[in-house]
Amino acid sequence: MHALKPFTYHRPASVDEALALWASTAEAMYLAGGTDLLGRMRSGQFAPKAVIDIKRIEELGRIELLDDGSLAIGAAVSVAAAARHPEVQTRYPVLSQCCDELGSYPLRQRATVIGNICNASPCADTAPALLCLDASVDVAGKNGRRRIPMMEFFRGPGQSALKPGELACRVILPAASIGGRSHYGRLARRKAVDIATVGALVLHLPKVEPHHRVVLVAVAPIPLRLPEVERLLDAKGPAAADEAAETEMAVKACSPITDLRGTAEYRREMVGVLVKRGIEVLAQG
Ligand SMILES: Cc1cc2nc3c(=O)[nH]c(=O)nc-3n(C[C@H](O)[C@H](O)[C@H](O)COP(=O)(O)OP(=O)(O)OC[C@H]3O[C@@H](n4cnc5c(N)ncnc54)[C@H](O)[C@@H]3O)c2cc1C
Repeated sequence: MHALKPFTYHRPASVDEALALWASTAEAMYLAGGTDLLGRMRSGQFAPKAVIDIKRIEELGRIELLDDGSLAIGAAVSVAAAARHPEVQTRYPVLSQCCDELGSYPLRQRATVIGNICNASPCADTAPALLCLDASVDVAGKNGRRRIPMMEFFRGPGQSALKPGELACRVILPAASIGGRSHYGRLARRKAVDIATVGALVLHLPKVEPHHRVVLVAVAPIPLRLPEVERLLDAKGPAAADEAAETEMAVKACSPITDLRGTAEYRREMVGVLVKRGIEVLAQG
């Protein structure tokens, strides 16, 4: 552990103020829950000259239903608050389930959903749900606001589609993606407070096509959605699925690395096991 390098701390009250602070301050970084950022600052990986704390920006602290029936989760909303929100629990139970897998109870009170994706880790636990639900991210920057589909958000380990200075304001869950049944199989070195070594989400959504959604985590440079496996599952249905074909396809699609959490061989093997398990759970109805 290094000592924290000196930095200035800012707590803007609006998105515009946050953007202006970023533009006027050299080497600034946004801070949401800080559960990732502060650890990296302590380890010396990041040394921002300024930290812009977005938690007090009122518009970012809301979970709200929009006119078109979609649900918006603000960037200052904690993982715990998102997981227990009634609209999330009833409309998007898979997101609640994935949030509950992240870290520990105290960590989830502080960490945010948007911080989890801005981190752009291949093992981000909210990513599989957000990818499967066709979510998108509203971002604000010097050229105004834009919307980035989750499928285009992750670019590589630690790299997202955010341009320098852009602030992710809220994640949008479409009205059509409601309901469904899912299985998020996740293996880590210990039961709690550990990043996933490998994970696979298999989901069935009743109202949108493809009805089946499959995402792998921690086995590729980004959380990986598997359209070919999804099409196969839609064509045959999970009960009639030849699991060997689906799991083989999933294993072929991933490109795991060996690190301190597990070997590439172990991860590949477990992708097969977890995808098979997910299909079996959905087949049970
Ligand atoms: C002990 C421990 C266990 C953990 N376990 C897990 C786990 O099981 N699963 C998991 O997925 N993660 C885990 N993490 C990682 C981390 O807690 C999560 O990724 C968390 O959701 C990050 O959210 P945050 O609000 O704390 O982000 P922060 O640390 O505040 O920010 C993370 C990054 O995103 C940027 N950022 C934040 N908000 C915005 C925004 N609105 N716009 C633009 N950029 C932004 C920051 O500048 C920073 O680079 C763990 C971390 C620790 C320390």
